[in-house]
Parts: sequence; structure tokens; C-alpha cells
Amino acid sequence: MSRYAPVPFPQVKLEGQFWHERLDTVLDRTVPSQHKKLAEVGILDSLKLPNPPPPLRFPRHSNGFTVQVFWDSDVGKWIEAASYALAHRRDADIEAKIEAAIDDLEKAQAPDGYLNCWYLGREPDKRWTNLRDNHEMYNAGHLLEGAVAYFQVTGRRRFLDVMERYLDHIYATFGTGPGQRRGYDGHEEIELALMKLYYLTGERKHLDFATYMINERGNQKPHYFDIEREQREGGGDKRQPYVFPNYEYSQSHKPVREQDKVVGHAVRAMYLYTAMADLAAELNDDGLKRACEVLWDDVMETKMYVTAGLGPSAHNEGFTHDFDLPNQTAYAETCASVALIFWAQRMLHLDLDGKYGDILELAMFNGALSGLSRDGEHYFYANPLESDGTPTRWEWHTCPCCTMNVSRLVASVGQYFLSTAPDGVAFHLYGGIASDVEIAGNRVSLREVSTYPWSGDIAIHVDPETPAAFDVKLRIPSWCKGAKVAVNGQAVDASETENGYLTIHRTWQKGDSIALDLPMPPERLYAHPGVIMDAGRVALKRGPLVYCLEEVDNPGGRVQRLKLPRSAELRVENRPDLFDGIVALKAEATALDESDFQQLYRTTPPRENTSNLTAIPYFLWANRAQGSMVVWVPEAREC
Ligand SMILES: [Zn+2]
Repeated sequence: MSRYAPVPFPQVKLEGQFWHERLDTVLDRTVPSQHKKLAEVGILDSLKLPNPPPPLRFPRHSNGFTVQVFWDSDVGKWIEAASYALAHRRDADIEAKIEAAIDDLEKAQAPDGYLNCWYLGREPDKRWTNLRDNHEMYNAGHLLEGAVAYFQVTGRRRFLDVMERYLDHIYATFGTGPGQRRGYDGHEEIELALMKLYYLTGERKHLDFATYMINERGNQKPHYFDIEREQREGGGDKRQPYVFPNYEYSQSHKPVREQDKVVGHAVRAMYLYTAMADLAAELNDDGLKRACEVLWDDVMETKMYVTAGLGPSAHNEGFTHDFDLPNQTAYAETCASVALIFWAQRMLHLDLDGKYGDILELAMFNGALSGLSRDGEHYFYANPLESDGTPTRWEWHTCPCCTMNVSRLVASVGQYFLSTAPDGVAFHLYGGIASDVEIAGNRVSLREVSTYPWSGDIAIHVDPETPAAFDVKLRIPSWCKGAKVAVNGQAVDASETENGYLTIHRTWQKGDSIALDLPMPPERLYAHPGVIMDAGRVALKRGPLVYCLEEVDNPGGRVQRLKLPRSAELRVENRPDLFDGIVALKAEATALDESDFQQLYRTTPPRENTSNLTAIPYFLWANRAQGSMVVWVPEAREC
């Protein structure tokens, strides 16, 4: 089968209401307000290398670490998000702000190409001494992604030139050659950024260095992080404790091809696997591909929240043991779900398999989007699946990684909808898009019209410039039973899918159209009994959306008092009054009554009253009155 490649996001116009609204919010509010915050907290000023540097805003921890070491990455991510925004709508003010940041970065760059504002401004003699903790290459990676995006959108290459000079310095410093250090970053990121630069320029040196980084990770004895520590601090008791006393935290405990369990910091892991999948495709490296597949299965079978949240623990911002998926204390960092989308997209292009598209969609509509408020200016860093009402969205965060991860995702979301190959086009997501693509040397206008995810009633118009034979592949989500497809009114057998995609091969002509019907009745989901936190509980889902109960829709006390009878009918309710129009779920329920329960304990159970419950999509929670929330609803056996 031909290999599919994503259609770049500027070629995909978002026309459906769902994404159009979110994109407008990100362009109008999120990107400008993020710049304001970057200025307010001193991140933009840090690029100017003030001399003397101001006191630290975030003092060092006992292990010497401060979040200020990765401020450059926040600038890079904002430039990336703002560049994607410019592709939708040119904005002189945003462009001037990007140019001003590039001015500062260009001025800050050392004569030898080195560019890290923390070290240049505060510890110039300590560069490259702590790759394990201090994110130097991670920062470079995010700046590089920003430079690539800005060049792609504007054609201006000044920032790209700055970054290429920096990369030449990095390539001279690190590697397996004589006199070079065999290092790699504790926080993966630069690997996937280098792959973007390689795709842009075709220059082999970028692919080679990404390959070096992937091959070197966890591959040395002694470990590079121990070598640099020895050089930095000598031996003995005076050495500073590791931020994390194991190599699993940074997925450097063994060579990546031998890794078969998803471990450590969740965002680091996802960025690493994204780059591994990129490289596996580019190098036709079956060993790397196999490692990606094994790791994918491990996370899907034992470690992912029903919302596609990843990493239950705040302690290591990451993974613990199989089936450890606590709800109220779930970390499930927004960045991790965003990065899962990156990885799923790369896997989809290694193998056009709907199982990757399913997770891409799940993470998009749930674990990632939940990180951004409806007003576009408040955020979740952690995305719990249950709340007593305490957590509220943040205006900003001491570590604002998630804020710009979600804005860059939404501003470039078009790239996840469809892919092309020389002989066809594949639809992965639905939601109302238009795109002109080239298939078999023919310009083809595609228009997908729907109100997805609220409805699975989808029309796809296929208009080739001249009649041409090619495949149109439609992802039939695994949650969908009984999909129906018709071409120009003629039914097509929709049960004949291959790896989750239905292929329609024909000679397409102007005016052809496909009707795709994806029924999405509400469903109950149950967790593996190993997930003890979800025992006796049920989650509600409709189509790609996971639902939750919020106190504001279910007044009368904490929503945890409600129980959903197993036999209760789940009803779909259109709510034009809520969030400019959503689909809510309703059901009869029972509610524990505490009004006559005077003691802490008693020998008779609490009364249970008949009640109703209303569920809304999880990604929309915490946008109204503060209150309790639950995804996994206690289940009553009988009504
Ligand atoms: Zn984050």
C-alpha cells in the first residue's frame, strides 16, 4: 500500500462550527493573551540577556533546578503557535511581536552559534554541563519548531538561519567523533524538531543527528548523565541529588529499540516515541517501528485514561504501574495528550491503521482540548477525571508548557484531518473542512460537511479537475457500529473495512459525493477490573466524546452522590442554550440522601432517592460555576 502523508494544515480550511469556533478563540484571545503573559512574567525580557540578570522569579529547588531554565522553550512554542495563527489570518501586530523576539534571539546568539538565554545570561561558563536536568536541547528543539513554522508561513528565514547556526554548533559539540561528547537531552524534543527541519530542507545532517540522538539514548556504559555529573561535580558526597534518581524518568534506562514498557515522564516519553516513529518511517527501520508498536500496545492496554490522559502521577509527571489510573489525583498533563496526538499521527503514517486514528481523535476531543478553557485564556495543566470542586483553571502556570501546547495544536489542527498518497486520499477526522489536494497528478477539491462531533451525519464532496481513478479511504471509528456509506446515492458495503478504513475505489468525477453515516448512540464504558479506582463505576461516551457530570448541571450536592442504574436509558438532548450548542446526555438516576444521616457511621444505609443526571462533554468542564465533577459515575445494578 502506498504510504500516506498528512496534508499540511494551511491547505485545510476549517469550515465546521466546532473547530471554527475554537480556532477563532485561539486567534483572537489565546495567542495575544499568551504573549502578554510571557511579557508579564519576564520570559520575553530574559531574551535580552539583562546585565546584571534580575533575581530569579522561581528560586532554585534543593537540587539546584529552577523552571527558568526552560523559558526559551516557551518563546519557541509561542512563536510556533502564533505562526500557525498567521497562516489563518495575517496580523501585523502579532508579526511585529514575533520579529521582536527574533531580534532578541539573534542578538543573544554567541559568536560560535550557541543560543540558550539561561546560560548566556546567567551561567555562561556552564553550558552543556547538565543535559540531564537543564533542558538545553529541549529549548533548542522548541525554538527550532518555532523557526520552521515561521518560515513555512511567512517565507522569512532569519530565525531559521539563527537556528541552523545553533545546530551547527550542536553538531560539532555532540556525536561519536573524536573529541565530541556523546550526550543527548534529558527531556526529549529536539529529535522530533530535527525531523521537521529535515522534511523542510531535505538536508541529511539533520536526519543524521536525530538518528544519533535516538541511537545513543540509554546506550552507554557508563551512562552519559553520570559522566557529565562526574565532570560537573566530581565524585563523593558533595554531589547534588538527581532531580529523579533513575534513568526511566527520561527513558534513557536502555536503548530505545529494547524498550517495551512505557515509563517515566509522560511528555518526554511521547516526544521520544513521536521522533522514533518519524525515523522508523524515514529510514525504513523495522526495529524502531517494532519498538513503537510494542510501546503503543503497552500504553493502550494498561496505562491510558479513558479521556486519553497519560501519566497518573504528579510525582514524576508520568507513568507508574499498570492499571494505576486514579481519577481525582490524575496528573494527565495536557502536554502529554497533545504529544500523544503527535505520536498517533506518526504511527498512522507508518501504517494506515484506524487504531491510531481512534486514539488521535480521542486525545484531540478529550484529554487535549480539556486543557483550554472556553474563553481561550484559562488552562488546565493536570486534567483530573474527578473533582471535589477545588481545582479551577489557571490563568497561567509557573511552568506554562501546556498553555502553548494546546494553542499550537488548535492553530494547526487542520493537519490531522486527512492524508494523501499518490493513489488516494484518507480521511481520519471529520468536522467540516475543505481542501484542494493533488492525487495522481490531478487537482482534487475535497469538502467534508458535518457538525461532527455532535452528529455523525457526514457529506463528502469529491471534485477532481478531470475524471480520475483513485482511492478515497474513510476512517470508520472503532466506536461506531453500523456505519452506512453511499456514493451518489448508491449504497456501498461499509462492513468491508481494512484496518479501520473503508476504501472506495472508482473513477471520480466532478460533482461526486459520499454520504457517510456514523451512528453515535450514547454508550457505557467499563474499565478493566484491574483499575480498582473505576470498579463499580461506568463512564459515558457518545461518538468520540467522553462525558462527565458537573455539579452545575446536577444541583443538590456533590455529583459523586449520583448513581446510574445499569438499566437506565441514556437519552440524547440537544442543548442550544449550553456553550452555543452541545449535545448533553440525560438519564434517570438515584441519589444518596444525607439529610437524615446525622452520624459519621450507622448500621442502616443512606436513603436513595430517584433523581436525574445530566452529562456534558468532558472537555467543557470547569467553564461555569465551580463545583464537583466525575467521569466515572457510580453504577447502581437496578433502578
Ligand atoms: Zn505541559
